[in-house]
Amino acid sequence: MTDYTSWSASAIAAAVRGKKAKAEDVAGAHLERIRAEDPKVRAFIRVLADEALEAAREVDAKVAEGRDPGLLAGVPVALKDNLNVRGVPTTCGSKILEGFVAPYDATVVERLKLHGAVIVGKTNMDEFAMGSSTENSAFFPTKNPHDHARVPGGSSGGSAAAVASGMVPLALGSDTGGSIRQPASFCGVVGLKPTYGLVSRYGLVAFASSLDQIGPIARNVEDAALALTAISGFDPLDSTSAPSQPRSYDVSSGVQGLRIGLPAEYAGPGLEPDVKAAVDRALAALRAKGAQTVDVSLPNTKHAVSTYYILAPSEASANLARFDGMRYGFSTARANARLTGLLETYEASRGRGFGPEVKRRIMLGTYALSSGYYDAYYGRAQRVRTLIKRDFDEAFRNADVLLTPVAPTPAFKLGEKTSDPVQMYLSDVFTIPCNIAGIAGVSVPCGKTKGGLPLGVQLLSRPFEEHILLAAAKALEGL
Ligand code: GLN
Repeated sequence: MTDYTSWSASAIAAAVRGKKAKAEDVAGAHLERIRAEDPKVRAFIRVLADEALEAAREVDAKVAEGRDPGLLAGVPVALKDNLNVRGVPTTCGSKILEGFVAPYDATVVERLKLHGAVIVGKTNMDEFAMGSSTENSAFFPTKNPHDHARVPGGSSGGSAAAVASGMVPLALGSDTGGSIRQPASFCGVVGLKPTYGLVSRYGLVAFASSLDQIGPIARNVEDAALALTAISGFDPLDSTSAPSQPRSYDVSSGVQGLRIGLPAEYAGPGLEPDVKAAVDRALAALRAKGAQTVDVSLPNTKHAVSTYYILAPSEASANLARFDGMRYGFSTARANARLTGLLETYEASRGRGFGPEVKRRIMLGTYALSSGYYDAYYGRAQRVRTLIKRDFDEAFRNADVLLTPVAPTPAFKLGEKTSDPVQMYLSDVFTIPCNIAGIAGVSVPCGKTKGGLPLGVQLLSRPFEEHILLAAAKALEGL
């Protein structure tokens, strides 16, 4: 039997469209792989086996009838469990959404389905996407497929681990401060955070609305580009969606003459030699293929993490106010008939439904937004945000793409950072500025550590220049 689990999404779609493979067999092979691997890796919160086989048969029927089955015909896709699929529970890795079933499809899910993708399940994540290791999931931690004693990264750790272990060729994650790129790097796969506004967030449970983006995780750049072609473009249902014409993302333009900027501030102390070696390897490869290098400076980068930890918790405190034990999911009013007062219900439901990291963020955000502190914290963070954005505008006058590490370290051990939130937050020093500036970023595998762990590098581009970004990423494949 053909082992479809080693095939790329592009190869599967081409074979299904060309009647060389049946979507049902492709789905069956991946479900089999999930049954064998997932008890060890634990990437999935929910596997939709029957639904996937049914969807795959519909794709096969379309092909048989000569109708266009779409760009992702028969491609098994896993979705981070903060994306709504109609009729399926959305948990956000939290207990507070217990019993909640999504009443509608997220726009990205609708587009995936239109393009013939087969949704095979919902993946584990840090609760409400707050974390860098998937250990903040209320259910269980996911393991890194390359070393089960290590984290897969986070918060889209389930999606990255599912792709890295051959359970799916493609997954979607969300990235507010690095949650697609950092787990992609830890798991040795490609992770793209598109420009703010390029992909609709309608149907994504909001964490920090001015930073959140949905993007693909795949085993190669071409597949990430194919997924972006399918899911991107204007959506009237998301008020932050940018007006844009549908476009097809081609990754073949090369890097000849491209100016690669090296931000001085991203090479500071604390960088592990292995991580630095990955950046050097990427640089040498880009140069060998005709790119030039220029030095750039992003002086306000040093404020990015502190700015993020005002902005993101502030927005989260507002976004998560809706989970109050009355409207969605878990409620002590149902669990305990004695608690009938509204305030008691709010307090007890939120107190029991949210985990410690989510509570910490809500408290930080509520404090930063409170009367008398708003200007000192939120207002000031917004002003620093403008400075960070301007640094990038300036850097992109001299460079087309920036090259940086993804994370300061390769995948760390399970439990290594759980008792020290600040250490966990610092995993994202190199990824957060991209979200703050609203630009595009991608994490591409770039070799291994001496101990055999995957390493990634990050490329950043101007807004809406994903075609350039992905072409540069393509030049790094196979390193
Ligand atoms: N690790 C960061 C955080 O905890 C980023 C998370 C994300 O991108 N969703 O907030």
